[in-house]
Amino acid sequence: MAYSDKFPLSLYIHIPFCTTKCSYCAFNTYTHLEHLIDPFVQALQREIEWVGRRGHRPVLHTIFWGGGTPSLLQKAQFAAIFASIRENFDVRPNAEITLEANPNDITRAYAEELRDVGFNRVSLGMQTAHAGELSLFRRRHNNDAVALAVNAFRRAGFDSLNLDLIYGFPHQTLESWADTLNQALALKPDHLSLYGLSLEDGTPMKTWVMRGQLPEPDDDLAADMYELACQRLAELDYDQYEISNWALPGKACRHNLQYWNNYSYVGVGPGAHGYAGGYRYATLLSPQRYIKAMSSDLDVDAKAYPWTPAVETFTQVDRDTEISETLIMGLRLIDTGIERQEFEDRFGEDLVSIHRAAFEKFADAGLVEIDSARVRLTERGKLLSNIVFRELV
Ligand code: SF4
Repeated sequence: MAYSDKFPLSLYIHIPFCTTKCSYCAFNTYTHLEHLIDPFVQALQREIEWVGRRGHRPVLHTIFWGGGTPSLLQKAQFAAIFASIRENFDVRPNAEITLEANPNDITRAYAEELRDVGFNRVSLGMQTAHAGELSLFRRRHNNDAVALAVNAFRRAGFDSLNLDLIYGFPHQTLESWADTLNQALALKPDHLSLYGLSLEDGTPMKTWVMRGQLPEPDDDLAADMYELACQRLAELDYDQYEISNWALPGKACRHNLQYWNNYSYVGVGPGAHGYAGGYRYATLLSPQRYIKAMSSDLDVDAKAYPWTPAVETFTQVDRDTEISETLIMGLRLIDTGIERQEFEDRFGEDLVSIHRAAFEKFADAGLVEIDSARVRLTERGKLLSNIVFRELV
C-alpha cells in the first residue's frame, strides 16, 4: 500500500456540462450537451461501482462535485449517484460533501433539495461584483444572483459556504477589486478562494489579449491586489491556510487539503484526475467517449486499482516524483507548511536534508522558515512562491 493510501480517501466527481462557456475558462467542459446528462449519470454510476468495488469499499472522508456546472443536475440524478457512492464506498458520517454551483441555478427549493440529498458545503462562482467585468467573463449570472443564492443556501441550513473570486484581469482596477472583496465579505462567506487570472491557451480571453483587443494583465497590479486581500481578510479573522484560500475557524476545505497533503483521491467523470494506489491517472476528456467506454463490456483484462475503462493515462508515481509533489503542494499550506516528522515517516528521510542547499538558500533569502517541526513559506515567500517551487521540481 502506498503511504498516501493510509489516509481516508477523497472522491472528485467531474460534471462536464455548462450552459455557456466563460471567456477565461480552460476546464474540460462543454455547452449544448445537456441531452447527454442522463447517459452520463449512468456511466458515472458504473465508474463509481467499478472503482469502489476494486478498491474494496475505500473509506471516503470528502466528496467534491466540480466541473463544469454540477448545479445543472437535478435531485433525482444526484440521488442516483449518491446511492452508487454509498453502495460502493464507506462514506464517513462526517464526510465533507461539496457542490460547485452557478449562482443562477439556485432557488430556495433547489438549495433544500441539495441539502436533503446529502450536500453539506457549497462553493459559488461569484468571480466579481461588477456587471462590466461579469460581461467580459461571459458569465451568465449577475451580481444580485450571488446574494440570492447565498441567502437560499443559508436558509436551507448550509453553514459552510465558499465564494470564488478572480483578480488580476485586464481593465480591473485596485478600486474595483477592493469593492468586489467588500461585496463578497458583506455576504459573510465561511471560505474564500481568490484566483489570480491565468491566460490559458485556447480561451477567448487569451485571444483578445494576443490580438491587442485587451491589455496584458499587469503582474505588479495583481500582486498589489493579492496583498490588499491578505490584509483585508486578516483584519476580519479569516485564516489564510493556503496561498489562494482563506477560511473562518474550522471551515478550511478538507477536500483541497487532501490534494495539498498529497494524499490519495479518486477522480471520476470525463477529464477527471486521480492519485491512488501509487498511480496518477486521467480519464477520457470527451463525454461521448467516456459514456461509450463505461457502457462497453467491462469484463476486460483490467489493470490495478484505481484503473477503470474510462482511464486514458495511468502512470506509476516513483519515489522522487512523490517527494517533489509532496514538497510543492505542502509548501502551499501557509500555516502548517510541511511537517518534518510526517515527511520522515512517509519517506524515511528528513526533508531538509534532501534539499539542504536549496532550503538554506531560500531561508537566507527570507523565503522559507525552517524550525524543528516544519518548513513553510514566509510572508515574502508567499509572494515569490513560484521561484521556490521551480527549484524544488
Ligand atoms: S461556469 Fe465554470 S466551468 Fe463553466 S465555463 Fe464558466 S468557469 Fe468554466
